[in-house]
Amino acid sequence: MSQCLVVMYHYVRDRHNGPESAIRGLDVATFEQQLDILCDTLKPIDWSTLVAWQTGRVSIDAPTFLLTFDDGLSDHAEVVAPVLEERGLRGVFFVSTAMLVDRVMATAHQIHLLLCHMDAEDLSTQVRQRAIDAGVNQEELLAADDDAHRRAYAYESADRAALKRLLTYGLPIELRNDIVASLFAENVGDSADYAARWYMNWEAIATMRRDGHTIGGHGHVHEPLLRLSPEDQQRDMARCVAVLRDGLGPGVRPFSYPFGSVDWDLARRCGACGFVNGFTTVRGWVGQRDHAHQLSRVDTIHVDSFLEKELACLRS
Ligand SMILES: [Zn+2]
Repeated sequence: MSQCLVVMYHYVRDRHNGPESAIRGLDVATFEQQLDILCDTLKPIDWSTLVAWQTGRVSIDAPTFLLTFDDGLSDHAEVVAPVLEERGLRGVFFVSTAMLVDRVMATAHQIHLLLCHMDAEDLSTQVRQRAIDAGVNQEELLAADDDAHRRAYAYESADRAALKRLLTYGLPIELRNDIVASLFAENVGDSADYAARWYMNWEAIATMRRDGHTIGGHGHVHEPLLRLSPEDQQRDMARCVAVLRDGLGPGVRPFSYPFGSVDWDLARRCGACGFVNGFTTVRGWVGQRDHAHQLSRVDTIHVDSFLEKELACLRS
């Protein structure tokens, strides 16, 4: 039996004092416990081994796992890398390249911080009011509330989920960026200052790669790519490829779709841009013959229940 469990992480950090303690991340002790469980149950592999297995160059007869980390967060160099080093594990770290070269905060991360400094209802009221002032009508404000987008934020409380749906999928992207940037400046602080400590810089990324980790792309501007036109999808991924190549040199790299969604055309474009494979947020094992640009992952918060259920099936 050969299948691979690809685990997806975002923030891994112990809670700080102050407003940022509200950032929802995995604490370090829980991360370490999960790694112990994974190592006890499955065999760790790195990204090159996953590719070799999927292309038939190596065979693996036991279930494996691969660790992936999205968003290029400084947590990954400061907290995750030393923990992996202690265990001899290697991970895949997906970087959104605009955050790396322009040193700006991704809108998604500005929203996380806004929610640390304002309550969701107040933020929601202000976002809606500014959107209406800019000419958006009530119908458009409700357009993000369909079932698919509801599932994307099923882990959130109802008011936070509605706000995130509106901000991620509802408002026109440029208007949304302007509204979030102005609210961030008014309520949180200077975006460039935050970006400098929120994300890994080139030096940290180069060190990770030297230490045997894989660096992959996570889009240039960190938008859900299915929201963009085919031309803009292509442009975003091509820019991401080019920045990584300029910064790290030529090489084969994986991609993680920002917010996880993909369709057949986007998967094809991802391959055409030069990414060897692409990871989604669809929960499940990766099989040897799965489509290389639509590989499943399991979020860290679902790993325990996933393993319990799946391993019971494997044993029976
Ligand atoms: Zn992301």
